[in-house]
Amino acid sequence: MADLTIQGLTKRFGGVTAVDDVNLHVADGEFVTLLGPSGCGKSTTLAAVAGLDRADGGRIQVGGTVYFDAARGIYLPPEARSCGLVFQSYALWPHMTVADNVAFPLTLRKVAAAERKRRIDEVLALVEMERYAGRYPHELSGGQQQRVALARTLVYRPAILLLDEPLSNLDAKLRDRARAWLAELRTRLGLTTIYVTHDQIEALSLSDRIVVMNGGRIAQIGTPQEIYERPADPFVADFIGTTNFLPARVVGDAPAGGRALLELADGQRLEAVAERAAPGGSRVTLAFRPEQMQVAPPGTAPEGGSVLATRVTSRSYVGGNWQVGLELAGAALRLEARQPPAEDRLDLWLPHAGGILFRGGADVAA
Ligand code: ATP
Repeated sequence: MADLTIQGLTKRFGGVTAVDDVNLHVADGEFVTLLGPSGCGKSTTLAAVAGLDRADGGRIQVGGTVYFDAARGIYLPPEARSCGLVFQSYALWPHMTVADNVAFPLTLRKVAAAERKRRIDEVLALVEMERYAGRYPHELSGGQQQRVALARTLVYRPAILLLDEPLSNLDAKLRDRARAWLAELRTRLGLTTIYVTHDQIEALSLSDRIVVMNGGRIAQIGTPQEIYERPADPFVADFIGTTNFLPARVVGDAPAGGRALLELADGQRLEAVAERAAPGGSRVTLAFRPEQMQVAPPGTAPEGGSVLATRVTSRSYVGGNWQVGLELAGAALRLEARQPPAEDRLDLWLPHAGGILFRGGADVAA
């Protein structure tokens, strides 16, 4: 049982700052996901916790043990840290059976035979692989091999579990199943876990909290709901789920928490709630999810929302629903609808309280 504290973690590779002053506390038993695009510093952060790579600055502590403290010159080698690390490549020994693979860390630690057998049985049951104990890795599916890799890590009871894209080598269907299985396992394990992925569905469905990283820095930390519903900036809004961005100009000063009247490039107007004060004339971007907008039947009263005239640019059947591409004042939007629109013009209804207003607009205009 252990919590994890990362303070001011910084790692440079030549001129590249891969991790830039990262601060994070993971509570005992918490499952936290590092999420972000390729190269944002997720794996480097994980490697620093595991001790595979020595960071340039900062401090890492697990439970009562300081793993790394640049200021005090403390650096524990990986074998002195209680971290269970599982990578996307399972790296099982091909010439050993499942049971022997799982036994290996215990043999290394000189655990007695009877105790070894008990722990192997226990951990193989935990990952639901007890029937495969005598098989070799090549006789298993990718998902099963990944479970064995997980068992091999869990068997020596690490204080924290570090998972680096563990499902990314599986095909889409297997990956879905493995994700559901992992979601169930994590509640049974209750182990402090850092999970690295660039897959937002995995992050949303598995995590207690998500850390969104961008360019080596933390863009936002929050629960899956907070990250999805209240993204801190356009990067987070764009990275998680589908977001429509509508550049606009504020008409008249909008008070914090009040309504802002917005004007689009084509002169159409709409209202939105401004969390922070927005001065008249300033450029803003309204971000909203496809599920927040609706097709307005002809003659809809714009009560509680705004009705906007758009042009239909595409219609794709996505199973159950249609994804409809729209053009509104030069911005490309995506709408989910039960039926494809019959006409090339479509009136859209947007609730006043639906979107999030960000300052500025040039960099996120669709
Ligand atoms: P991915 O999802 O592609 O694995 P990531 O978010 O895990 O990406 P990192 O692997 O942590 O990103 O890399 C962060 C940055 O550090 C990148 O710019 C990468 O090119 C650089 N980097 C990582 N490892 C090294 C290394 N050993 N030598 C030089 N540069 C490195």
